[in-house]
Amino acid sequence: MDRKYDELMTYVEKMQALGMAQGLFGWDLETEAPREAAALTARMMGSLSSQYFDILTSPQVGELLCQAAEEELDEAQKAILRELAKERDRLCRIPAEEYREYAELTAGATQIWARAKENNDFASFAPVLTRIAEMSARIAGYSKKEGQSAYDAMLWQYEEGFGRDVLDPFFALLREHIVPLLRAVMESGRAVDAGPLHRSFDIDKQRQFNRYLAEYVGFDFGRGVMGESEHPFTIGLHNRDVRITTHYYENLLESAMFSTIHEAGHAVYEMNVDDALTLTPVAGGASCGMHESQSRLMENMIGRSPAFWEPLYPKLQELFADELAGVSAGEFVRMINRVSPSLIRTEADELTYCLHVLIRYEIEKDLIDGSLQVKELPQVWNDKYEEYLGVRPLTDTEGVLQDIHWSQGSIGYFPSYALGNAFAAQIYRAMDREIDVESCLRRGEISRITEWLKEKVHRFGRVKPAQELLREATGEEFNPRYYIDYLTEKFTGLYGLK
Ligand code: ZN
Repeated sequence: MDRKYDELMTYVEKMQALGMAQGLFGWDLETEAPREAAALTARMMGSLSSQYFDILTSPQVGELLCQAAEEELDEAQKAILRELAKERDRLCRIPAEEYREYAELTAGATQIWARAKENNDFASFAPVLTRIAEMSARIAGYSKKEGQSAYDAMLWQYEEGFGRDVLDPFFALLREHIVPLLRAVMESGRAVDAGPLHRSFDIDKQRQFNRYLAEYVGFDFGRGVMGESEHPFTIGLHNRDVRITTHYYENLLESAMFSTIHEAGHAVYEMNVDDALTLTPVAGGASCGMHESQSRLMENMIGRSPAFWEPLYPKLQELFADELAGVSAGEFVRMINRVSPSLIRTEADELTYCLHVLIRYEIEKDLIDGSLQVKELPQVWNDKYEEYLGVRPLTDTEGVLQDIHWSQGSIGYFPSYALGNAFAAQIYRAMDREIDVESCLRRGEISRITEWLKEKVHRFGRVKPAQELLREATGEEFNPRYYIDYLTEKFTGLYGLK
């Protein structure tokens, strides 16, 4: 073996195998494993994870990375080195003792959070959250660039290039437009009655339709599996084994359907990554936000559009002939697009979703720069919900304790959800200039859409950074105006606000 790059790849192969095993255990814990498996299986996953980090931070890998960088490499190989070096550098800067302490802290915190949420007891979670905020800010500080704050470094971990300098004006723009638009919708007096979607829908029939729906939007069952879990998610082991879950409720027809479309959007991205990239560190999506853009585009911009349902709704109505009797396609589309400000982010409608994210962003920023104390969070949280959404949580369970993220140490992750929506709107516009998306949907030709996305976005995996990928796919820099225009046009039309 002459080339150092090839020698380095033997280590990468081991790391990939360890990562894949962890992923598979993770899938299993959420779907099939018995209830009591969690603690012991999680310990073994921890062991796999530390073997992964031992390899990545080993002196041999460090040396090979330097040597391989001197060799002649193609674009993908350079990207693989870039990603490995970045992750290695980040880990090597953290003192080993501190890294271990943080891993243990966050491993235990999720259970403390879950119990606190169950018992509506924020005080029991506050001490561990305080510790997580302190430690994650310190750890992020080790790899921050010049001029960055600790929170900027935390944001960059999930979305490189999107620190406060970009996100402050981005969220200000969302706030400036969405808050008054929401008010106008609520005052329009055109509330949508979605009663028919809450009738009793046989779960087996729902399973049948959701499987059809997943395939319809491009999920390939030859390379994928669809399971069920409490919270729907996607996991890509490689481009020939991508798994999604959904969750069925007898009295909520739309819930499983839009979870399925959302997760299938993530899955199609993973399935379309180039063969040469799968099982490498650049196999996944370009960034968290870019991944989310593909699921949101499929779920909302495509999956909630009238054109999408034109060929599909008769099939749904045929399957649920009694339940949907007398509900026209037009009424159905209005129901699945209804606006209703609520307390829970994961159940939010399309218009109010980003306001939930905005609240978390503002809180995280103040928490990390020290201007807000953990004990003040419930009050601040509730005040912001009242201000932006006009609803006030009565308990912390449905307020500040609702999300798992902070207990896992994922502070700085939330903005990716909002960026995903904005990327999606920009990508949709670019795609619509080249192929007429609506008429593709009307004819049921989703493959023309997924082919376009594969060509412009999916196949590159993580080879190009998200900003570059967005620029090349759409012909311009990140521009959140497309998202504002999309929301304004859509909800002005639906609620007759002109
Ligand atoms: Zn998602």
